[in-house]
Amino acid sequence: MAWWSRQGGLDSAPKKSVPKGIWSKCERCAETLYEADLTANLQVCTNCGHHFRMATEARIAMSIDPGSWDECDLHLESADPLGFRVDGKRYSDAIKGAGKKVGAGDAYRAGAATIGGMPVEVGFFVFEFMGGSMGSVVGEKITRQFERALARRVPAIVFCASGGARMQEGVLSLMQMAKTSAARSRLREAHVPYISVLLHPTTGGVAASVAMLGDMIIAEPDALIGFAGPRVIEQTIRQQLPPGFQRSEFLLEHGMVDMVVPRVQLRDSLERVLRWFAGVAPKDRGDGADTGAKNGRAAGNGVDEPAGGDHPA
Ligand SMILES: [Zn+2]
Repeated sequence: MAWWSRQGGLDSAPKKSVPKGIWSKCERCAETLYEADLTANLQVCTNCGHHFRMATEARIAMSIDPGSWDECDLHLESADPLGFRVDGKRYSDAIKGAGKKVGAGDAYRAGAATIGGMPVEVGFFVFEFMGGSMGSVVGEKITRQFERALARRVPAIVFCASGGARMQEGVLSLMQMAKTSAARSRLREAHVPYISVLLHPTTGGVAASVAMLGDMIIAEPDALIGFAGPRVIEQTIRQQLPPGFQRSEFLLEHGMVDMVVPRVQLRDSLERVLRWFAGVAPKDRGDGADTGAKNGRAAGNGVDEPAGGDHPA
């Protein structure tokens, strides 16, 4: 029988393949990694140290003390003031779709928590939700987070991972840069510390506002951090950009970030920085490390005034 007269076409028996979710391939060194090892190692390649993008839920869990998360402002929802459509799809539907897929709360989650027993107001960009783009809900949540930090006089921390402003909300998105920066400046006036943690990628309007305004700016290794894309810059300045441009290590070398910290050390580093801001001895010294930390106040050593200006007691 000729092959073209056979019923059912070619041999379509399913190929034996590796079940999904058991193995992952490293994007950098191409090593095949056991998913359970990758999870245990906080989504960092055990072979080359490449940092995979981490889901926000896991990021929250690794960053704060277990059981301390008290999330705020879950009810906020974006309006669609422009009646924005892209490819015939309404913006309001895209928001609902993202909410169904990722969970409610838009592209930012904020709340009260403790880190090493010290109270903080902490927020996380949700990159899974429309690329972590900053619209009016994200801006409002960050502003409220800073206002809570100010009222309680506890440090604010923002984990940034964003493609920038949300184009679907037009100028209202751009306004969030000014709004969040103004809220951040009130923290500075009151000497309440603000720490920003830059994850891959932190770009556009987020990089041009809250991300770069930390008293302490910490970045994960090899994260893309910048305002405009490299091609746009090259075309504007008509020069070729140096290798490693807009990556954490390049920014550290050029004084734009304070520390580049591997993910496995990030939580300990944060705790150390918080203790330093609070004027509390590091934990490993153990000399009354917990006393005075509970109120979480910025008792001294503010980086605003390294020459030893007047700090709130
Ligand atoms: Zn690797």
